[in-house]
Amino acid sequence: MRAERPDVLVIGLGPAGSRAAAAAALSGFRVIALERRAAPGRPVQCAEFVPSLIEQDVPGLASVTVQAILRMRTDVEGEGFDESPYFRGRMIDRAHFDALLASEAARAGASCRYGVAALEIAPDGSVLGSDGRHLRPRLLIGADGPRSRIGQAAGRVNRDLVETRQITVPLSAPQDATDIFLKADYPGGYGWLFPKRMKANLGLGLVPEKKRRLKPLLLSLHRRLVAEGRVGADARDLTGGAIPVGGRLPAIGRLGRTPVLLAGDAAGLTNPVTGAGIAAAVQSGALAGEAASLWLSGRERALADYEEELSDLFDAAMARALARRRALLARYEAGGRPDAEALRAHWIAYPQYWASLNGEGRG
Ligand SMILES: Cc1cc2nc3c(=O)[nH]c(=O)nc-3n(C[C@H](O)[C@H](O)[C@H](O)COP(=O)(O)OP(=O)(O)OC[C@H]3O[C@@H](n4cnc5c(N)ncnc54)[C@H](O)[C@@H]3O)c2cc1C
Repeated sequence: MRAERPDVLVIGLGPAGSRAAAAAALSGFRVIALERRAAPGRPVQCAEFVPSLIEQDVPGLASVTVQAILRMRTDVEGEGFDESPYFRGRMIDRAHFDALLASEAARAGASCRYGVAALEIAPDGSVLGSDGRHLRPRLLIGADGPRSRIGQAAGRVNRDLVETRQITVPLSAPQDATDIFLKADYPGGYGWLFPKRMKANLGLGLVPEKKRRLKPLLLSLHRRLVAEGRVGADARDLTGGAIPVGGRLPAIGRLGRTPVLLAGDAAGLTNPVTGAGIAAAVQSGALAGEAASLWLSGRERALADYEEELSDLFDAAMARALARRRALLARYEAGGRPDAEALRAHWIAYPQYWASLNGEGRG
């Protein structure tokens, strides 16, 4: 069968892929995007919090907002909440958010194909879809999440991951804060209760070696909150998934003569401490789509510029988060358990997190 020859082939229609496809299609290029799911954003694998800064990048955000978040509260080892005002953002309906961005990509002219996975990636950058069609793009964008096949083909792999488990529970009273639970029993992760009016996403993340502990530990956190009268016993919408926490990967590469750009989780852009990655996916996806358009228009440097832009945008925050995460994990590796002070020092709500890195995290 003869291969289709799009200018840009995007793999994955999460926030990063939709933004990339929209940006490249808006410049007039022929864009095909493959998404293995039957519909954008479903099933939801997300706690659904986005920081306020995303509002400037997603004008339609109001239409997918469930409620405003004004504060963060952090409970360390069950000692009670420390209050952090000014952690503002929104709880979104993630399935509708992804559908909104995907519809913008389609409106921009991208051909979005659902229920089609990229099955094989050849050394020359051509792709075999699960629908049996071959695609040979001029440029390939990998926006296919934490375990990106495109990244793997190009030699960029997220090696450090956190595994998660999440349920949705009834909330006894509405709240305008995201609640965080830090415990020595949660190595490499934390617990969260993120409100959605009279419901909440209750979840937990851990290093992969402790994956089997996710279920009992989440159950125990749920029981505690039920006993405190904060949430109901009903648990629905069980979900989970992997989050990259090893830092940013090189986002440009080549398969044969085909340039490859990675965006979002595929490029390791999630924050290694908080696990947040939606805003970074949106930003990097748009930049990848723009870089693709510029390169196709003859600007050779556009790909290197993309890498540089990602570095400018993310590396400082990434270095801090990585340093804090590594310092905390080192306590477990040394055979100990972090105390409450060490747990606080690795979390964004506390001044210790923002203190000088003293050379850590550089180089
Ligand atoms: C439980 C959990 C809770 C989270 N909570 C938050 C939060 O509250 N706030 C936040 O900012 N971030 C959160 N994150 C992280 C956030 O979800 C990701 O950073 C974000 O989704 C990254 O977007 P993306 O477009 O890069 O990747 P994704 O959203 O993962 O999209 C990748 C897409 O590629 C598709 N795909 C994969 N492989 C193929 C293939 N071979 N062929 C075709 N399609 C393919 C997938 O189906 C998927 O639709 C959470 C993550 C998890 C797991």
